[in-house]
Amino acid sequence: MTLLPLLALLPWLTAPPAGDTLSPPYVARRLAPGVYAVLGDTGRGSEGRSNAGFIVTSEGVVVVDALASPREGEALLRTIRSVTRQPIRWLVLTHHHPDHTFGAVVFRRAGARVVAHPDARTLASEAGPDALVADWVRVVGLDAMRGFQFADSADRPVSGTDTLTLGGRTIVITHPGAGHTPGDLMVWLPAERALFAGDLLVEDGVTMVVDGSAAALRRCLDVIDGLRPRVVVPGHGAIPRQPSALVARTREYITRLERDMRLAVEHGVPMQRALAALPPPDPDRPVSLNSRRRRNAARVYVEEEHAYMGLSDSVP
Ligand SMILES: [Zn+2]
Repeated sequence: MTLLPLLALLPWLTAPPAGDTLSPPYVARRLAPGVYAVLGDTGRGSEGRSNAGFIVTSEGVVVVDALASPREGEALLRTIRSVTRQPIRWLVLTHHHPDHTFGAVVFRRAGARVVAHPDARTLASEAGPDALVADWVRVVGLDAMRGFQFADSADRPVSGTDTLTLGGRTIVITHPGAGHTPGDLMVWLPAERALFAGDLLVEDGVTMVVDGSAAALRRCLDVIDGLRPRVVVPGHGAIPRQPSALVARTREYITRLERDMRLAVEHGVPMQRALAALPPPDPDRPVSLNSRRRRNAARVYVEEEHAYMGLSDSVP
């Protein structure tokens, strides 16, 4: 036997485990030194994979959001591993919707501690955790959910503002209000002027408020404007060329919806008729543009009705 065939075998014998040799499944887009967005941009906006991100420091990595399943979480972790071998220290969850949190267990197993808002209530979880998981399996499939465990409860709860300092970096985590959900958090990097906004911003400006409220969303948008970010990563879809333009578009949408619904309430127009001007929701597509507009309108109608009756603090 010559030496050659043996040498040919060597790369295989010394190769790292298969997981490390795979090309990263997602693209890590560098926003600033050490700051990356992992865009779910599939051209499907709110219906596509959600966005995530990570911040690399000399003392470890801070991950922003965990995607929709253990399988997506694994793929995100591999994408991070294509950039850095630093340990995963923290996972920050921008809110408690499953498309941002159901991959969290992967990061917990990798050693991360979870930073999240303590209020995890959402409409989707109203029927209890088992029903939520069963519903979600129908969305992403059983395979994607292998190894799933709930891992979105906070090791480090944030309901106001908290600052992580890691490897000389300052990472501000803040609750700007309950615009999208009661547990909304944003991740702000003051030195880089980069903001991970979660679902308070989405590509087309039609942020869902069925778990939040229109008035709170407007206040959140004011907070974002006040930061004057250089770059914002929305919860879904492409990074806007101009952060302030996406904020303005979102504000315009929600303000107009509030005005329309207020007028309807003041004129005694029943909800069904107030919503009739909108295109019907898409069956089986709960977050398509038409479905979002319709669901938001129903929510905002109720808000305006309560405000009209002087019950503005008791919207269910
Ligand atoms: Zn969401």
